[in-house]
Amino acid sequence: MPGVGSERGTAALVDQAGDQPCTQPGCGRTTGLACAYVDRRGHECRTSWCPDHRLVIDGRVYCRRHAGVVSALPVGYVGHTAPMPDLETRAPSLVSWVAREVDADIRQLLLAELRDDRVRLVTDPVYLAFVGCDRRRAWERAWKLLDHSGPSLRISLLVEECADAEVAVRVNAEIVDRLTPPWIVQRLHGALPPPEVDAQRRKDFNRRLLGIIHRGMEREGHQSLVVAGVRDAADAVLQRP
Ligand SMILES: [Zn+2]
Ligand SMILES: [Zn+2]
Repeated sequence: MPGVGSERGTAALVDQAGDQPCTQPGCGRTTGLACAYVDRRGHECRTSWCPDHRLVIDGRVYCRRHAGVVSALPVGYVGHTAPMPDLETRAPSLVSWVAREVDADIRQLLLAELRDDRVRLVTDPVYLAFVGCDRRRAWERAWKLLDHSGPSLRISLLVEECADAEVAVRVNAEIVDRLTPPWIVQRLHGALPPPEVDAQRRKDFNRRLLGIIHRGMEREGHQSLVVAGVRDAADAVLQRP
């Protein structure tokens, strides 16, 4: 049975003492095991973590960053022949995080268009995409309306590996706009705001993302195809405090 072995492996690895110095600043223990992440170019993560500071997923030890990357990828992706994202990129974890934050609102926008029993709302997990004529690697999550002839509307969020501080919004084939999340801007400036300011900035960011999606839908002619419903739903989403 798949999964049983990895669960047993996970349980054992949580407490297993290694012999590497822990990378956590100030920890000082030498019971670290190395982060198991290896990217598509064969570059290994050079960190090690004691039992207190490691994360174990599916029978492998990871640092915080790579645990985020691995858990953003589709089930079954890791440990097979699929090439792993570049060592330093936060693209898969960023797109996965932002998509979770706005998932309910995007569904609501799309569901407002479901006037027909034959149309279904389908979502895709995070997957690897190639964008632009130079086929830049990006990680994408999509929401689609499908009718009998295929997708009638497709909304996606994507983060390119080479520009992993920005979330791009795509409606059908076109990238409408790009936004940098406030927590990344804050990190670049090295300043942490008070929690209530932080929460407000995150809310504003989600609202701006939805505004871009709304704009993209209009640009694709969805204001004429779909009647007031979408606009009302979008306005409701956009005006939510
Ligand atoms: Zn430690
Ligand atoms: Zn790592």
